[in-house]
Amino acid sequence: MPEIVLTNITKRYGDYYAVDNLNLTIENKSFVTLLGPSGCGKTTTLRMIAGLETPTTGRIEIDGLTVFDSEKGINIPANKRKVGFLFQNYALWPNMTVYNNISFGLKNIKEEMKNYAFDLMKVSKILDVLANDKDLLTVYLDALDKNKEVNETILINKLIDKFDLTIYTAKEILQLKPFADDKLVDLTPLKEKYQEEKKVILNKYQEANKEINENFEFTENNIPVKTVRRLTKEEIDLKVRRVSRIVKIGEYMDRYPSELSGGQQQRVAIARTLAPEPLVLLMDEPLSNLDAKLRLEMRSELQRLHIDTHSTIVYVTHDQLEAMTLANNICLIDNGLLQQYEPPLTVYSKPNNLFVADFIGNPSINFIEANGSLSKDGTFELKIFGKEKIKFIPNEKLNLEEKLKEMRHKEEANYMVEKINKDYKFKYNISRVDDEIELEENIEFVVAIRPEHISFVKDDKETISGTVYSLMPAGMETTIKLRYDNFLLTGVVFGVLPYKIDEKVNFKFNTNQLLIFDKESGKLITQGSIKI
Ligand code: ATP
Repeated sequence: MPEIVLTNITKRYGDYYAVDNLNLTIENKSFVTLLGPSGCGKTTTLRMIAGLETPTTGRIEIDGLTVFDSEKGINIPANKRKVGFLFQNYALWPNMTVYNNISFGLKNIKEEMKNYAFDLMKVSKILDVLANDKDLLTVYLDALDKNKEVNETILINKLIDKFDLTIYTAKEILQLKPFADDKLVDLTPLKEKYQEEKKVILNKYQEANKEINENFEFTENNIPVKTVRRLTKEEIDLKVRRVSRIVKIGEYMDRYPSELSGGQQQRVAIARTLAPEPLVLLMDEPLSNLDAKLRLEMRSELQRLHIDTHSTIVYVTHDQLEAMTLANNICLIDNGLLQQYEPPLTVYSKPNNLFVADFIGNPSINFIEANGSLSKDGTFELKIFGKEKIKFIPNEKLNLEEKLKEMRHKEEANYMVEKINKDYKFKYNISRVDDEIELEENIEFVVAIRPEHISFVKDDKETISGTVYSLMPAGMETTIKLRYDNFLLTGVVFGVLPYKIDEKVNFKFNTNQLLIFDKESGKLITQGSIKI
């Protein structure tokens, strides 16, 4: 079942449409990034899903439940939507320890939950630990310091992590004193004691006619019984420990936020968001306060987190690299309008329009204006840079006339209130040595080439000749700007290039992933290759 469905969502501020008729399905367990330039409507969209902003019109469903419907007057408040949010300014409570920061929200939860036989759960857990004497000894030896003294805090943390225990169970195990002089004591009497205790508990429940399944849940006719209640302190502890393990902050539980680095604080904030196990995690630029290195590290941790928690993540960013590397699907928005919603590499190689082509990719894609027509053999005969003749060979057979008609057809939008930002149109940039020189008018097509698709060749057969305008070696790759008359193209080549500034070079476009757009509508016509 899809997790989040937005249907015809519009958010208006007066006559300004911050989000304009957005339709989006965010699949269960996916990682979706909302990407776009500043002010495009990303945060507004996220806040509407969260319930922190009310859409003007439309419907939002989360996990099959309608949480907002303007027609039916449904608007479920944020705290009832089972979503967790993490914002850019994630203020931790400075006067609370890390543990309390994470557990605080859990103490306030009061909702319908399964009921557990906690006493039976604890005894069974202790029996499991006692049965696993090899791991128990390893944990103990790991917690010994140089003088062979046991460090209790470390030992408790290690027990918790190794056996997935609460701190209360870990402390009880320590009180049993299962270790002495680098060894385990004979555990048989302890095992017998706990087996006996387990029998007593089981009898108690049997006499009371209580059904319990293998997960220690109370059931009736094999269905877990649910009641409205708060979490017990053991359950809270288990949840805090679990999320702390995921974001690797188990050792900082007793510290205050001021005693942590920025990255550690960020991880506490993530743990705090994760602790109530939300169905959906909504994050608004959560890494923007971190330095570049930490950002990279946290990005990879977020990816792991997504895998480990199986949650659905919706993540706002204006950093296209972050959006590309984290997401299963990128939702690219401009001026409140959805531009493309597809996997990152599809968005990169097959952008729907000039805006998407330009927004994704660093260095930016090269745009070349072209005039010409589709000839009978199915190739475009084009003139670029005002004089250079090339053939653009589409990867697919085209009915251009039909396609252009379809692409240029505009449905008359029926706005409830006259839209102030409706005439905004993306303007692509043609890179030139001198921006003052006028471009040709009446352009029909725009050809786009990614920097990595420009290659250099010695001979001048089927190549274009230009000069090196600038050269920027960065070790792993070199960025080169090529000059053709007044025009500039950017290329990126792996390794080092043996050229000098102003030297003549021959280059060509070595791929069938070149793009040709209709200038009028800005939409992608097709992919193909160029023959010079
Ligand atoms: P950024 O990356 O800069 O945070 P964004 O894509 O998240 O931008 P939003 O915060 O969603 O943008 O805002 C979308 C548009 O709605 C912006 O143009 C903004 O000025 C406008 N807007 C947001 N809140 C209000 C408001 N309360 N009243 C009027 N206009 C608003």
